Amino acid sequence: MLGPARNVCVWRFTWRRPSLRLFHRKCHMSIEELHPWFLGAYAENHDVLEDLLTEFLADHVYWRRNFHPECRPPVPTSAQYRDDYIEFVAELKQELFQLSADLKRSVPWFSPRYVGHMSSDLLLPGLIARVMTTLYNPNNVSEDASPATLEKELEVGMQLAEMFGYPIDESAEPCAYGHLTSGGTVANYEGLRNLIALEMYPMALAQASREFDGELGPMGPLVKRLTEYSDWELVNLGVDDIIALRREALGSARELHGPAGFERFRKAIKAARFEALGAVDFFRTHSELKPPVVLVPSTAHYSWEKAMKVLGLGAQHLLEVGVDRNMRMDVAQLRTVLEQCLDQKVPVLALVGVLGNTEFGTVDPIGELMNVRDEFSERGLHAPVHIDAAWGGYLASVFRAEGGGLVGRDMLKKKFHYFPSQTVYEAFAALGRTDSITVDPHKLGYVPYPAGAYVARNRGMIEFLTQEAAYVFDIEEESHQRSLADKLRHLGQYILEGSKPGSAAASAYVTHRVLPLHHDGFGRILQQTIRSCEYFYDAMPEFKERVGDLVNLTIPFEPDSNLVCLAINPRANDSLARMNCFGRRLFEHMKIDPKQPIQQREFVASYTSLLAERVSDERAAELLGELGIDPASLTPNPSDAEGQADHVFLIRNTLMNPWLLHEQNGKNYIDLYLDYLERIIRQELEG
Ligand SMILES: *Cc1c(COP(=O)(O)O)cnc(C)c1O
Repeated sequence: MLGPARNVCVWRFTWRRPSLRLFHRKCHMSIEELHPWFLGAYAENHDVLEDLLTEFLADHVYWRRNFHPECRPPVPTSAQYRDDYIEFVAELKQELFQLSADLKRSVPWFSPRYVGHMSSDLLLPGLIARVMTTLYNPNNVSEDASPATLEKELEVGMQLAEMFGYPIDESAEPCAYGHLTSGGTVANYEGLRNLIALEMYPMALAQASREFDGELGPMGPLVKRLTEYSDWELVNLGVDDIIALRREALGSARELHGPAGFERFRKAIKAARFEALGAVDFFRTHSELKPPVVLVPSTAHYSWEKAMKVLGLGAQHLLEVGVDRNMRMDVAQLRTVLEQCLDQKVPVLALVGVLGNTEFGTVDPIGELMNVRDEFSERGLHAPVHIDAAWGGYLASVFRAEGGGLVGRDMLKKKFHYFPSQTVYEAFAALGRTDSITVDPHKLGYVPYPAGAYVARNRGMIEFLTQEAAYVFDIEEESHQRSLADKLRHLGQYILEGSKPGSAAASAYVTHRVLPLHHDGFGRILQQTIRSCEYFYDAMPEFKERVGDLVNLTIPFEPDSNLVCLAINPRANDSLARMNCFGRRLFEHMKIDPKQPIQQREFVASYTSLLAERVSDERAAELLGELGIDPASLTPNPSDAEGQADHVFLIRNTLMNPWLLHEQNGKNYIDLYLDYLERIIRQELEG
């Protein structure tokens, strides 16, 4: 939130305090516009939900009845008087009562007293669309199983693409595309899968044209004959170049060799591809080439390691780039790693930037990352960039002006105390330059699970993904883009999943229609979450004083948006292991315990650990100093006796509930949360 220059001594800002409450109150006025958007913490808007669901349930019933009304109903009207019918319904009801009772143990995401994981109340438009569409059960695997919802899914892809600044004009090239997945995990898998298909293609093409008599001359992005390129050169072509190369190569081969020859050529390419050979044989064939690596920040979600395993790339080839003191990818370290890759000719399959990491919510400097990437491209090492914005992706709506373009940083700064820092602003501004993005509508999109999304800048990507090597006859068609759009109607051929809920698409679609993904639409919700986070941050100096007799307390790094972590240590304690035990004891009060009624919880938080290996020694010493911990008590490999001393335990608060600043009796939920923290700290320490 703070600019990089004033990132250390956060407590200096206490002089601002008297005006704070006023400032936040003023901004809070606009919250009224959000009132109808959610079901509400108290289900205040239940009548809207009920009316619309009842209406559309009846509507669905008539739809069924009007499909061949001449048919005699297979379930006769007399059926309901039979004993077995009555028994069945009774039993069903019994089970549903039980389920309903069990569901009361669910996590109260909707409540402003829930400040834990990345979930909150659901937006009414998405919730209603979801339930309504489930009645029709569309399957978005392809259009013939989802005549109504597949197009909506592709539209959602374009809405997200526009929010990120990707090109969306279907009559021009490149044009983006996107679709929904079950979540960020699968979208990340797909990001990697697509990049392998693309980046290994030119080598297969060269191989096939070597085996085939007809050599391909300079074309597309090439300046010499294809076969004169080394594998290293071919693996370092950019996404757009590879798409252009493939089209031109297939086009000219077809012209040269006629339909039969072309068909043989096509088969030869297919047989030489990574997808056909598998990693082992592919790299045996291209022995000059080292196995490719994927670069992620050390804060990356664990789905990246899973992805390496699932795709057979090997977890050892996932290289972690360290982070700076703000838990953002360290660009100097990135440079070093890329330098080594260039030096040793190790292909970089993907450079992954994280836009809002799961544990700390901090944002990698995507702007700088892109600059470094471009610099290395010039020197012959091209790393395609995938952004994991599963968490932070929707924040792009705050930066997007209605009608396109970016909202200026000055204009944004007027609305907030600190947000957005220069780095954060540049990160969001640079999204349009990246190659593909993961984003989770079921996180900051406030729609029901499951809904993740994969979005790519250039839809030409799908030509590399078909089960059947794509027929290139589309280049002869009038509108190339239209044919890509047509292909996407058989979505299942291009994505990792098969059958998938059209209701997820309907849910995201209606949400984005009612609340367009820009600053003055959907962006308002997220502005509210950032305000809540700034309020929390600004309340810290006073809170720190209040509990100063008992604990040392610190926010270990500036929040970049709406997630904030706290480290708390009892005053008398200087052992890290004991501090972590204390943190866990506090957390016991605020965790979801499946065995206890949720009503016993006053607030629910989450936790994370800051591993010692993730921060520099200097930063670790500084942080421990602030907490009054003896740095010597930090042990990278904790023995069982001491235990728990290789990390700093943090209470993690995701501040995404829209009503956190709602006041009653002069206190909002953040005030109440801090009061509660004080109470449990006193309870634990004073007994
Ligand atoms: C949540 C998250 C994921 C995983 O997404 P799921 O929807 O849980 O599969 C991946 N990356 C980041 C940064 C996340 O926050």
